[in-house]
Amino acid sequence: WSDKLFGGFRKTSDRLSENLSVVSTAKLDDATLDDVEDALIMSDLGPSAAARIRAKLAEKRFGLTITERELKEAVAEEIAAILRPVAVPLDIVAFPRPQVILVIGVNGSGKTTTIAKLGHWLQEDDYEVMLAAGDTFRAAAIGQLKIWAERIGAPIITGPEGGDPSAIVFDGVKKATEIGTDALIVDTAGRLQNKRELMDELAKIRKVLGRLNPEAPHDVILVLDATNGQNALSQIEIFKEVAGVTGLIMTKLDGTARGGVLVAAAEQYGLPIHAIGVGETLDDLRPFDPDLVARVIA
Ligand code: GDP
Repeated sequence: WSDKLFGGFRKTSDRLSENLSVVSTAKLDDATLDDVEDALIMSDLGPSAAARIRAKLAEKRFGLTITERELKEAVAEEIAAILRPVAVPLDIVAFPRPQVILVIGVNGSGKTTTIAKLGHWLQEDDYEVMLAAGDTFRAAAIGQLKIWAERIGAPIITGPEGGDPSAIVFDGVKKATEIGTDALIVDTAGRLQNKRELMDELAKIRKVLGRLNPEAPHDVILVLDATNGQNALSQIEIFKEVAGVTGLIMTKLDGTARGGVLVAAAEQYGLPIHAIGVGETLDDLRPFDPDLVARVIA
């Protein structure tokens, strides 16, 4: 599958190459390091990761002559060093079952599709999965999730449009407990425009869950759209505060030149990255392999 990943990250890689190619690569002095740092920032890696990579390059090679190839390899190594600590697979370990996975994110980020992909992925590992349509704010969201549930052959708990999401989550956990489901994946509303309401809604879900199982929710996964570039970072900031995010899945890394934002997110927030989305079909959720991604980007 790495072909697809390479295809997906090509634009990000091209962008970084283009930005790095203006670096005069004779000698790694302050001026050259400035150019490298600028190139990294222009490639969406963010000021913090760019400064860290610059410092590492300076520490290891200051004053040395470096070819373009060597520069790229050195940058790839530093990107990998940033990504490795956050590459954390999503393990199904909850006891008692089900493991309750809340999925949050703004509308359009790829939340619904990611829930389906994640469900499919877990099923392939022989886990029983159930979905819960907790985004009752949008009728279309309930309908979409139903279609995906049917496609992956997973039971789904739904309620009326405008209904109480915490009631759906309650039903979901009860049902999942009854039939021995391993993972309950819960869609939630992505209304960042109204932070207060969203916060109250999530707090209520947590309260209801807590009564059924003090450990739940086990995961709160924020879905981020890579094409939003630096905007994705401010979403992490807000959702961390509103929802207590435990991990990230970044989508739409296929075909965007802004994949560098993955590195910025890793450096700035250190949250686990569980997987990445590289397309619209069920098989397009990939494990997050930091070394591979670093090599593809740089
Ligand atoms: P939601 O509003 O956050 O639930 O977003 P959806 O799951 O409905 O996705 C919005 C659009 O993004 C749909 O057209 C999806 O097919 C598309 N999408 C989701 N994930 C990816 C991805 O990884 N790559 C690409 N290219 N498109 C994606």
